[in-house]
Amino acid sequence: MSIKNKLRAGFGFLFLIALVCCGLSIYFLNELSSDASVILKDNYESVEFARNINAALDQNQSVLNKSQLNIIETNLYKQERNVTEPGEQQLTDSLRSKYEQLKKAGIDKQADLRIKLRNINYGIMQVNMAAIEHKNAIAKDTASRGTLFVALIGTFCFLVAFSFVVNFPGYIANPLKELTGHIKEISNKNYHQQIDFGANDEFGELGQAFNTMTRKLDEFENSNLSNILFEKKRIETIINSMHDAIIGLDEKSTIIFANQVACSLLGMPEEKLIGNNAPEVALENDLLRNLLVNDQLKMKIYADNRESFYTKEILPVSSDDKVIGKVIILKNITEYQQLDEAKTNFIATISHELKTPISSIKMSLKLLDDVRVGEVNIEQKQLIANIDEDTRRLMHITTELLDMAQVETGKIKLNFGSTHPKNIVDYAVKAVKFIADQSHIVIKIKCDDSLPYVRADLDKTTWVLINLLSNAIKYSRPNTTVELNVKQHKAGTIEFVVQDHGQGIEDKYLLRIFERYFKVPGTSLEQSGTGLGLAIAKDFIEAQSGMIGVNSEIGVGSKFYFILPMG
Ligand code: ADP
Repeated sequence: MSIKNKLRAGFGFLFLIALVCCGLSIYFLNELSSDASVILKDNYESVEFARNINAALDQNQSVLNKSQLNIIETNLYKQERNVTEPGEQQLTDSLRSKYEQLKKAGIDKQADLRIKLRNINYGIMQVNMAAIEHKNAIAKDTASRGTLFVALIGTFCFLVAFSFVVNFPGYIANPLKELTGHIKEISNKNYHQQIDFGANDEFGELGQAFNTMTRKLDEFENSNLSNILFEKKRIETIINSMHDAIIGLDEKSTIIFANQVACSLLGMPEEKLIGNNAPEVALENDLLRNLLVNDQLKMKIYADNRESFYTKEILPVSSDDKVIGKVIILKNITEYQQLDEAKTNFIATISHELKTPISSIKMSLKLLDDVRVGEVNIEQKQLIANIDEDTRRLMHITTELLDMAQVETGKIKLNFGSTHPKNIVDYAVKAVKFIADQSHIVIKIKCDDSLPYVRADLDKTTWVLINLLSNAIKYSRPNTTVELNVKQHKAGTIEFVVQDHGQGIEDKYLLRIFERYFKVPGTSLEQSGTGLGLAIAKDFIEAQSGMIGVNSEIGVGSKFYFILPMG
C-alpha cells in the first residue's frame, strides 16, 4: 500500500473511533434522558396528582366546597390518563368510585370517605414511588453502563492514537534518516552502497531510485577515473619527454610531480621527491633551495658532468581565483647562451681588430691635414674634415661595441678605489665641454667639497657620467642649461644627477632605454648613436653595486641619475 493510502487509512481509522465514541456517548445520554423523562411523566406526575387531591381533601373538615371538588375532579381526571404501573388502574378506579360516593354522601359519611380516599391516594403514591425507585435504579444502571462503554472505547481510542503518535513519525523519519546517512556516504565518494526499505510504497521506490543512482555514479566514476588516469599518463609522458626541468607543487608546497630532467638536475630519484614537502627536501638539496628561495632568473647548473644554463620560470596554478599550487620550469638555454657568447666574442674580436686600422686612418688624416705634408684645396679640406668626423664616429661605435662585449663576457675589470666625486665630475665635464660650447649649452655644476668619498672605478664611472652628459647635451635645445648635481643620497650612498631641459622621453620608453640597441623612435639621425651607451652605463654601475635610473617628462626634460656606495 502506498504511504498516501496508509496515511488515509490511519487517519480514517482514528476518525472512525472518535465517531463511534461520540455516537455511544450520545446514545447513552439519550437513554438516560428518556429514563428520566419517563420517571417524570409516568410517576412523578401521578404522585403530584395524588398529593393535590390529598391537599384538597385536607382543606376543610366539613362539606367539600366547589373549588375543592374541582381540584379533585381535575387531578383525578389527569390521573386516569396517566395510569402506568401495575395495580395503579384498580387504585385509580376505586379512587373514582369513592370520589363519586363522596360527592353524593352527606356530611356524616364524608369524613369516612375522605379517609378512604386519602388511603387510596397513598396507595397510588406508593405504587408510583416504588416505580420511581425502580426506574431510577434502571437510569443509574444505564449511566454506569454508558460510562463503562465510553471509558472502554475512549481508552481504546487513546491507545490507538498514542501508538499512532509514537510510531507514525518514526515510520516517516526512519527511512529519511537512513537515506540521509547514505547521501553523506555518497559525498565521500562511496558509491558501493544500496538501500533496502523492504516496503512496496514510495520509500521502496525511493530506495530503488537511490540504488540506480549509486550504480550509475559508480559507473561514471570508474569511466571518469580511467579517463583521468589516461590523461595523467599522457601529460606525464609529455612532461617527461621535455628537455626542460618541470616541478609541480601543490598549495602546501608538496611536490606532486617532477620530470626526469628535473630529477637528474636535482640529483634525486623521483620517489624521494614526489609526495614530499619541497622546503624539507630543499634542506638537503642546494639547487631545490635556490629554486624555491632565489629570485634569480638565470642559473648556471653543473649536472651530468657539464655546465648548463637555465632560466627559471614560476607559473602559479589557480582555480576560481585561488592559487592552488605552482609549477617551476627550468628552461635549458645552454645552446642560446653558447650562441650569444660566440656573437659577443665575434663582436669583441671584430671591434678590437677594427680599432687598429681606424687609428691608422685617423693618423693618416692628421698627416694629410698637415701643411708640411702638402697643400690641399678647400674642397679637399672639407672632404678630409668629413672623413675625420666619420672616422671619429666609427671609433666611438667600435669602442662602445668593445665595451659591451667586455661587459657581456664578464671580462669587465673594475679598478675600485676611493675617490672624491669632484674628480669624476671634473673629468667628465672637461670631456664634454667642447660639444657643450658648440651647442651653447651651459653645464651648471653643484658638487660640494664637503661630500664624502665614493667607492668606484674612476674610469668606468667617468665614462658613465660622460655618456649621460653627452646625451643631455645631444637631446637639449641650444642656449639651455644642463645641471649636474652630486649629493649625499640615503645613508652610505652618493647620487649623481644629470638634468636637462630637452625634449624628454615618453613614459612607455623609459624602461626600455637601458636595453641594448634601443633608441627612442623618432630620434634624429645626427642625435642617435648605437643605442648601446645607456645599456653599458647600466652594466658599469650595477657591476659597482650601484643603481641607475631616469625620470622624464615630454617637453620638460629628463633627469638621469646613478647612485654609488660611499668610499
Ligand atoms: P644613443 O647612443 O643612441 O644615445 P643611448 O643608449 O645613450 O644611445 O640612449 C638610448 C636612447 O635614449 C637614445 O636613442 C635616446 O632616444 C634616448 N635618450 C638618452 N638620453 C636622453 C636624453 N637626455 N633626452 C632624451 N632622450 C634620451
